[in-house]
Amino acid sequence: MVRIGFGWLLFWAAAVWSQEVPVEEITSGKPDGSVITVLIVDGQSNHNWRETTPVLKYNLEETGLFEVDVLTAPEKGRSWQGFQPDFGQYDAVVLNYNGNPWPDEVCQDLERYVAGGGGLVIYHSANNAFPQWSEYQKMIGVGAWQGRDERWGPRLYWENGQAILDATPGKAGKNSPQRIRAISLCEPNHPIVRGFPPRFMHQADELYEQLRGPAENVTILAGAAPDGSDGRRLEPVLMTIAYHQGRVFHITYGHAGTQCRSVAFIAPFVRGVQWAALGLVTIPVPPDMPAEERPFSRPINP
Ligand code: ZN
Repeated sequence: MVRIGFGWLLFWAAAVWSQEVPVEEITSGKPDGSVITVLIVDGQSNHNWRETTPVLKYNLEETGLFEVDVLTAPEKGRSWQGFQPDFGQYDAVVLNYNGNPWPDEVCQDLERYVAGGGGLVIYHSANNAFPQWSEYQKMIGVGAWQGRDERWGPRLYWENGQAILDATPGKAGKNSPQRIRAISLCEPNHPIVRGFPPRFMHQADELYEQLRGPAENVTILAGAAPDGSDGRRLEPVLMTIAYHQGRVFHITYGHAGTQCRSVAFIAPFVRGVQWAALGLVTIPVPPDMPAEERPFSRPINP
C-alpha cells in the first residue's frame, strides 16, 4: 500500500520513531509494517454526513497509512437489525454520527472496545450525540446541546494557561457563526500537535462553545477564542480523553466538506486518528501548515 507522495516521504523521514528506519521501507502505518484500520460510522446526523464522510476517508487514505471502512447506520425510523459494528476489528473508530440512540448491545460493544484499549475519534457533531448514554459522556469528555446542562457536568475551557472546570449552571452548546479563526495550542508537546505553529489559521468554520460534561481525564490540546471576547478564554477544539485503557481524540470543528479540506483540519485529524489507534504519531506536520502569517497555501483537495 504505497501511496505516499515524495514530499510526505521526506518529512516522514524526520518523524520520531522512523529515524532509524530507511526511508524506502516506511510505507505503512504501524511500526510492524501493517496499515492502520479505521471504521467511520455515519448514517444519521443534523449535518451532511454524505458529504463529510468521503472527505474524512480521503484525508486518511491520502497519507497511504490507513485503510478505511464506512458503516452507515439505518435511516431514522428503520429497523436496527443488521447494525452490528465489529469495532474490535479496527485500530480506530471515527464517529460522524449524531442521531437516534443505538441498540444497547452496540453501545456496550463500543464501551468494551474503548475501555479495552481501542481508539475512538469524536468528530464535530458526534459530541452532540447520545445525551442519555452515561458512558458516552465519559468517552467524549464534554458535549453540547440535546438538553445538556449543568446536570451533565461543568463547563470546560482554557484560561490563563490551564484547563478550567466551571460549575456555573447553564445550557451546554453555543455556536458562533462561521468565520476564519486562529486556533491556539494549549499543550504544544502532545504528539498530535507537536510541531504545529503556536497559533494557526483555519478556514471559516463554526466554533462550538460552552461544552459541558464529566470532563474527566481530558487534555485540551488547542482552543479558539469566542467572538467578541478578549481572547484570554479559549473554547477547547482539540482534546484527548483517557477512557480506561482506551484513547479518545476529540475534534470539535469541521462543519462540512469545505472545512474538512482545510489543512488546519486535515493535519490534526489524521495525526489524531493515528494517535487514537496507536498511541503515537509519525505523520509529519504538513509543510504548508497554516500559521498566522501564512494562512492558506494549499489548494483544496478533491
Ligand atoms: Zn456544524
